Amino acid sequence: MTHLEQLTIHEVHKLLKSKQVSSVELTKAVIARIHAVDPKIRAFVTVTEELALQQAMQADKRIADGDCRPLTGIPAVMKDLLCTKGIRTTCSSKMLENFVSPYNATVIEKLYAEGMVLIGKANMDECAMGSSTENSAFFATHNPWDLMRIPGGSSGGAAAAVAASEGFYALGSDTGGSIRQPASYCSITGLKPTYGRVSRYGLIALASSLDQIGPMTRDVEDAAIVMNAISGYDDRDSTSVSYEVTDYTKALGKNIKGMRLGIPREYFADGIQPEVASTIKTAIVALEELGAHVDWNVSLPSSPYAPAVYYVISTAEASANLARYDGIRYGFSYQAANSMWEALEKTRQFGFGTEVKRRIMLGTYVLSAGCYDTYYLKAQKVRTLIRQEFESAFEKYDALITPTSFNLPFKLGEKTDDLMASYFYDVCTIPVNIAGIPAISIPAGFVDGLPVGLQIIAKPFAEEKLLRIAHAYEQATGWQQYQPPL
Ligand code: GLN
Repeated sequence: MTHLEQLTIHEVHKLLKSKQVSSVELTKAVIARIHAVDPKIRAFVTVTEELALQQAMQADKRIADGDCRPLTGIPAVMKDLLCTKGIRTTCSSKMLENFVSPYNATVIEKLYAEGMVLIGKANMDECAMGSSTENSAFFATHNPWDLMRIPGGSSGGAAAAVAASEGFYALGSDTGGSIRQPASYCSITGLKPTYGRVSRYGLIALASSLDQIGPMTRDVEDAAIVMNAISGYDDRDSTSVSYEVTDYTKALGKNIKGMRLGIPREYFADGIQPEVASTIKTAIVALEELGAHVDWNVSLPSSPYAPAVYYVISTAEASANLARYDGIRYGFSYQAANSMWEALEKTRQFGFGTEVKRRIMLGTYVLSAGCYDTYYLKAQKVRTLIRQEFESAFEKYDALITPTSFNLPFKLGEKTDDLMASYFYDVCTIPVNIAGIPAISIPAGFVDGLPVGLQIIAKPFAEEKLLRIAHAYEQATGWQQYQPPL
């Protein structure tokens, strides 16, 4: 039997609108679920129980007044790097452990305007650096499909919460795969929009030229609904784009007959787990059966260099972004110092975890006078090549189909020693950020009870096309309906 808290956004919306259920009932069901399962999963840094119930009461009033929008009264989870006024925003870092933001991120404001009920802030890798959520300064999150395994990262808490019905949807952020990879590992839908589609104002920055906020949901229709609410130009983010926002739900329910899909061979290269490759090939055959024309022989030769480019550009940008944590303006501050310099050093020494410090040092190095041309400038040139290869591919194909990740979710602790390997695991997701284009990960089946995600990539601002293909696949296969055995 499906419980209330396990429904999708579009299903509970109907119940709310017809007053078969109230937002308070819905919120209580989610809170009860969090009490029951979160001690095992640990998806949340902060649960905002009282606030959620207040917001639910307001939502019920609004619904009584006849104003029930698609997200009104529905409990949601926010990755803990989205600033929420009056609520702790930690970035899962000691540096911001007690930081209460004085303002809301634009996406939070937009969702509040729709009547969101905020149920809590989700755990993540510290400062969004990682792919397992094991880099959180507080605790690791467990995968609802197998509690011994990682949920992916860095939006691992958000993905686990949505998969375990501890909230109806989440917003995550994706710099190199942090929405799509945990979505894949937790068998949910995760969409990274085009760079500029969603305002980054109030998102604690990792790498500003790569970061994007996007929905993490239980099915494709829900992703379209959340995209409708969060997309659009914002004059507080100079890189947001004033490209028209259409109704993304209009993309759903259309067939994909005659669509041209390309399969880039570099995304099935050495290192991919054979079971993952065969699951994705089965998924591609399913797309073919739905009438798409599939070209199995596409090449994006520069894509394998994307992780190298990423670890130069993202660390360079992170080293600049994280310079603001000086212990003076906000956040953790080392008190027992004898001088200002000592205070600054110790604040950063004790406030940041190992991975964050490693990346700050790497980023500072690649930007230093003697290294700038060799590393940073070179990486920018390869970035252009990667983008151009996508551009020419999209002259021939409507979308590209790949696995989201080469691997099934690892056991907790299994890969923490193998840093270089872990950097290269994101080889399927990183090129998309490098090129600034949109991509979606949707459930594509299971191997020994562990989820596999299918990635669909399209040209800039073609989110509708992604949603259309994803929806057709999902409706034909039904993988999104499975619930983790909790
Ligand atoms: N796993 C990648 C990293 O460690 C991507 C993280 C992200 O998208 N925020 O940086």
